[in-house]
Amino acid sequence: MVDSYGRDINYLRISVTDRCNLRCRYCMPEEGVKNLGHGQILSLEDFARLVRIAGRVGIKKVRLTGGEPLVRKNVVKLIEYINMVPGIDDLAITTNGILFADQAEELKKAGLKRVNFSMDTLEDSKFRYITRRGQLEEVKRAVARALDLDMHPVKINTVIIRGFNDDEVLDFARLAIRYPLHIRFIEFMPVGDLLFWNKERMMSSGEIMDVIGGTYPLYPEKGIIGNGPAKYYHIDGGAGSVGFISPMSNHFCAECNRIRMTADGKLRGCLYDKKEIDLKQALANGATDEDLQQLFLKAIARKPARHNMNQGWGAQNRRKMYQIGG
Ligand code: SAM
Ligand code: SF4
Repeated sequence: MVDSYGRDINYLRISVTDRCNLRCRYCMPEEGVKNLGHGQILSLEDFARLVRIAGRVGIKKVRLTGGEPLVRKNVVKLIEYINMVPGIDDLAITTNGILFADQAEELKKAGLKRVNFSMDTLEDSKFRYITRRGQLEEVKRAVARALDLDMHPVKINTVIIRGFNDDEVLDFARLAIRYPLHIRFIEFMPVGDLLFWNKERMMSSGEIMDVIGGTYPLYPEKGIIGNGPAKYYHIDGGAGSVGFISPMSNHFCAECNRIRMTADGKLRGCLYDKKEIDLKQALANGATDEDLQQLFLKAIARKPARHNMNQGWGAQNRRKMYQIGG
């Protein structure tokens, strides 16, 4: 389905829960958040039905995220459901990895094709600091398991924050040389706990590329499977690649192919757009498949031309990344 700006919208990101087992400092407050109650979130059956309808309006790729998608009960069942929807040819997950290793095989069997792990540091004590409670070892185990199971391409998301992990940029690049991993540096966005972080913390993709390029020449790389806006580069002798996602310094809205669904059943055209369409309410009112299909079409038609995140610094957003789905 083509939107008002000529973009083919074929990718749906679903936040299956707003809950998380970590408390990354740039994402969630220490005390956690007032989670949505059972009655407020979509059931697995609702999600499955909505994905089926999304498939009818041209969605071909689905990513489950959150919050932490693996804390959602029966997420394996949901993956099984979605895997059976005709037309959906790519099913992936974005996870902090803490709960991945032990269920990796089951997830793969259910139809999960690809995994993106979030890992902002390669040092144990810094990992404990930034996540407030996580063990880096668990994430490393998860990544190794995904590689063992050949869930290629295995990607790592890293948000570089000046003064926290900007000294590890080359260590991450070396990881992509040594292992078949695709390390994606994501620019820090003003969507989290803005009371704590500020604009000076953001390191742009250009700056990160300069750091890596100063030691390892970078060669543009094509052909890494994905639906996103990352620009990938190969390093001589490297098994993997490094990628750059630049929502702040070089927004990619003209190529954006996604819509988002929140755990409480709201459809959004953009991470940063406050306009939402309430599918949960529609379901409660007994909407037919045709009604729901119209709501998807409306969300696509309303998708904004671009985000205005660069004006967002210092403003408190009503909805956070863990609620909308990062
Ligand atoms: N819990 C899962 C995880 O951490 O992978 C999925 C949800 S998390 C919100 C998705 C991604 O958003 C993570 O890679 C996280 O680092 C990123 N993220 C969260 N807040 C961010 C921010 N303010 N700027 C840039 N990326 C952010
Ligand atoms: Fe949880 Fe992911 Fe947010 Fe970290 S970034 S607190 S793991 S939702």
